[in-house]
Amino acid sequence: MSDREKWQLVAGWLRQARHTVAFTGAGISTESGIPDFRSPGGIWSQSQPVLYQDFLAGAEARHEYWRQKSHAHADFAAAEPNQGHRVLAQWEARGWLEALITQNIDGLHQAAGSRKVLELHGTARAIACLSCPARFDPDPLVQQFLETDVVPECPECGGLLKHATISFGQPLPADVLQDAMDRSRGCDLFLAMGSSLVVEPAANLPRVASSSGARLVIINREPTDQDDLAEVVLRAGIGDTLMGIDEIAVSDR
Ligand code: NAD
Repeated sequence: MSDREKWQLVAGWLRQARHTVAFTGAGISTESGIPDFRSPGGIWSQSQPVLYQDFLAGAEARHEYWRQKSHAHADFAAAEPNQGHRVLAQWEARGWLEALITQNIDGLHQAAGSRKVLELHGTARAIACLSCPARFDPDPLVQQFLETDVVPECPECGGLLKHATISFGQPLPADVLQDAMDRSRGCDLFLAMGSSLVVEPAANLPRVASSSGARLVIINREPTDQDDLAEVVLRAGIGDTLMGIDEIAVSDR
């Protein structure tokens, strides 16, 4: 089947489905200039992530964490939503998309206008104290770190400061994960895109949707372990693919 025929199929499902959920990973933001983790040239070809336990245990790990995050901050701060983000926001506005579950921490779905966004891995658009409820704008704290090379402490209580993202080894927010599980179980169309589908428990959601009877569509440049579960696999760029599906879905109205 050609990609265009697949777009037609997915556009038809999108119009018919009663509960559609989109699930995004780092791949939707590469077209905004933010590198993903696992593509060649991705973040992990340059440095290893700092585990949460190491962050808590030692000043050296915290310094490495802040070094990595401050480096990535410039990419995040300058990035703008792309076509893919915008199409998903339009689908929600038209009532075609019930919820968007993302593994991303860049805030670009909200910047594009999506409202019902479940951020499984938190957000890099805030810095949180691990000892008190204080949250801060990252810009001045990252700037302070870059100028002084000293890891900042919470100005309110002296506690450890960390981006409001979920590090490896850190539990996911239970309420967000439960909501994502419920929506995956209850939807009839699940669109997974830009994810290598290996980071658990997020990677379990397409499996849950598929085993609960939803149609699964996977849009990803590289193969994933769940391609066999999908009714349609589009091995192509997300922006062009979503635009193609959108044009057909709109013209069918
Ligand atoms: P991943 O890096 O493991 O996989 C990304 C996948 O997207 C790859 O398989 C790649 O082939 C595909 N891809 C890249 N660009 C694409 C495009 N334009 N069109 C179609 N496919 C494309 O990412 P993941 O599965 O999201 O898991 C990694 C973790 O990385 C997540 O926990 C996430 O929090 C974090 N992360 C987030 C960002 C971000 O917020 N933008 C960036 C890097 C990593």
